[in-house]
Amino acid sequence: MPAITVDDVLVLPRLPTLDPTTTSYREARRVITAPSGFEGEGFPVRRAFAGVPYDELDPFIHLDQMGEVEYAPGEPKGTPWHPHRGFETVTYMIDGIFDHQDSNGGGGTITNGDTQWMTAGAGILHIEAPPEHLVTSGGLFHGLQLWVNLPSHQKMSPPRYQDIRGRAAKLLTAPDGGALVRVIAGEIAGHPGPGSTHTPITIAHLTLEPGAQVDLPWRSDYNALVYVLGGNAAVGSRRHPLHTGQLAVHGPGDALRIAADAAQSTTTPRLDVFIMGGEPIREPVAHYGPFVMNTRAELVQAFEDFQAGRLGTIPAERMPHTSADETPPA
Ligand code: MN
Repeated sequence: MPAITVDDVLVLPRLPTLDPTTTSYREARRVITAPSGFEGEGFPVRRAFAGVPYDELDPFIHLDQMGEVEYAPGEPKGTPWHPHRGFETVTYMIDGIFDHQDSNGGGGTITNGDTQWMTAGAGILHIEAPPEHLVTSGGLFHGLQLWVNLPSHQKMSPPRYQDIRGRAAKLLTAPDGGALVRVIAGEIAGHPGPGSTHTPITIAHLTLEPGAQVDLPWRSDYNALVYVLGGNAAVGSRRHPLHTGQLAVHGPGDALRIAADAAQSTTTPRLDVFIMGGEPIREPVAHYGPFVMNTRAELVQAFEDFQAGRLGTIPAERMPHTSADETPPA
């Protein structure tokens, strides 16, 4: 897993050592194993939030782990043009390359550790696909797409696009140097990441050496979700086991504890986890396909607006795309 790595973590700022007598560790209270499926034109995903009620995910809606997959030449896949309204998509690329273009003029290429942050707001059309040279060559593909909800008063805000380079992530390490923490948005122990968010959240990608442990101060008014991208872990002071493709929803407290098992597999020699937390929006969630609103009537309106072309139009100068199928996913 390349993402962003450093030669010597000991030059990085260190996380504080927490006092166990005054720290309230958050414990895993629900653990799910993500089922596998396919997205877009058929790229393999793990549905990391499957079966978890929205009120426990709030302010998050959906998380796909895309890959990890080693494509043969001609095999890499993306999505056709499709709409969104009412939330933000955050795409974090660990390995491989994804191109993006949207009807608001946003677009670019993300690779090893880059994040693309798209606020759909009132409406947008976009496409996410591997570049032609990668389709030709094949290769490794691994990333995440997280959906962050917007409160009702921001659902119809103007679309926005942020391109966050991997090297812009705030890098931290554990007091003993056993972990690399990449803060992408929000803050950890006073160290802010580069992502600008409508809804207050913190997201970070952690890599732990076998046997390492990390304690993270975590805002008690945020929820806390830990997803294992690869490896074997134990979370909380009660050391609940968690492995590749599992999500732990944590209970209340003011810190997270994540430990990497001393024994890891040869395919995932280190532990990689993605951590998410945010201030719950506490509004009704009406979610269907590519739209996340508050009521069914607003979903119907979103479909009508899409059909009428009011969520945007596919740009005339559109990026090359391997599929003739331009129908949106159901
Ligand atoms: Mn999309």
